[in-house]
Amino acid sequence: MKQKKWIGAHVSAAGGVDNAPVNASHIGANAFALFTKNQRQWNARPLEDAVIESFKKRCAELGFSGNQILPHNSYLINPGHPEKEGREKSQKALLDEVQRCEQLGIPALNIHPGSHLRKISEEACLTRIAETINRVLEQTQGVSIVLENTAGQGSNLGYRFEHLSEIIRQVEDQSRVGICIDTCHGHAAGYDFCSEEAYGQTMKELEDTVGLEWLRGFHLNDAKSELGSRVDRHAPLGKGTMGVEPFRCIMKDPRLLEIPMILETPEPENWADEIVWLRSLEDGSDS
Ligand code: ZN
Ligand code: MN
Ligand code: MN
Repeated sequence: MKQKKWIGAHVSAAGGVDNAPVNASHIGANAFALFTKNQRQWNARPLEDAVIESFKKRCAELGFSGNQILPHNSYLINPGHPEKEGREKSQKALLDEVQRCEQLGIPALNIHPGSHLRKISEEACLTRIAETINRVLEQTQGVSIVLENTAGQGSNLGYRFEHLSEIIRQVEDQSRVGICIDTCHGHAAGYDFCSEEAYGQTMKELEDTVGLEWLRGFHLNDAKSELGSRVDRHAPLGKGTMGVEPFRCIMKDPRLLEIPMILETPEPENWADEIVWLRSLEDGSDS
């Protein structure tokens, strides 16, 4: 039997992280993302043992292995912060998030690489990002840092595949780093996914600059913004400027197995339908 792709959404963990697998199951997902703490606050209470146990129990019952879960870090963290104080604060917060993943038995954490805030060069910022990752990895075990490509809004790095490969090159333990491709961010950064040919070329560019062996996730989002606009605005699948084709190509791509593919689209009430639609593209029953 053909192996099914891992498709899900960034579900709510309101009321406790152990609610996330339940929310994912309700929308027919076999993968999910979550925040392991409030993503808009620096500090969070430690996870309680009972919640950790409940999370693991529910994941096992509902059929989610650790590899099918890809948490997202807090938006406040900037591993490439140009100033020492800001970087130390971010490093501490990132360490806390990786430790939460360790506690929950989740083997990877998706992060936005970082921003130079127009105070240092892109190269200097990429080096700071790798340094922050190195310091966090050496204090933890069994959790990989997954670098998400960005739209390149403001001074965010990660909008070129070369940024991701340069950070990886400077990470000491390369067995614990990977990448996640957000389709909306790629489109906004000027990478075209919108025809079979363009998709093939973009994936070839990813293969040549980073390598597909580093892929640990996808974020499946259509865009409200134009190709190359550097504006990060997600749209429901097939309803934005990207259309249907990128998602058909991804669902048909035999290389993209056993990696979480996560919806971050703006209408959570439609996630179950979006997953059904993606499944129809995967098995060809849409045509
Ligand atoms: Zn993200
Ligand atoms: Mn994303
Ligand atoms: Mn985004």
